[in-house]
Amino acid sequence: MAAHSDSSCIFCKIIKGDIPSFKLVDTDKTFAFLDIGPLAKGHALVIPKYHGEKLTDIPDDHLSEVLKYCKAIAKASEFKEYNILQNNGALAHQVVPHVHFHVIPKNTEEDGLQIGWPTQKANMDELKKYHEELKGKL
Ligand code: 5GP
Ligand code: ZN
Repeated sequence: MAAHSDSSCIFCKIIKGDIPSFKLVDTDKTFAFLDIGPLAKGHALVIPKYHGEKLTDIPDDHLSEVLKYCKAIAKASEFKEYNILQNNGALAHQVVPHVHFHVIPKNTEEDGLQIGWPTQKANMDELKKYHEELKGKL
């Protein structure tokens, strides 16, 4: 098993081949397969082979390759409209604690991803203060 792998992780087991999957991509750094509970036909998952729970746990070179294959899958599948989704933490709807990017086709209002978008009115003073703080850290 690769160095950055967790023997109790379901996606690490899929990478290793201990759990079968409909594999789409298998490189040194990246693995992709069809989601077993699709939101629409063709829903795929693209994952770094490097085990980590959240986006911030994964090295940049592994992440950039993941994005490349999200694009390749969307293109090869000829999805006209689609969402790329990546959840971090249970509150943010993450169920499997190994970073994964969903490639989800959106064919109709009813299939694919359903999103709530509860917009709040920004307080400009707070926004300005936050902007200064965050900019200083980047
Ligand atoms: P999350 O909610 O963590 O972002 O999404 C986890 C995804 O993994 C779900 O869409 C779920 O259907 C998928 N999934 C969970 N277990 C398996 C599995 O054993 N095989 C495959 N192919 N997909 C899985
Ligand atoms: Zn894992």
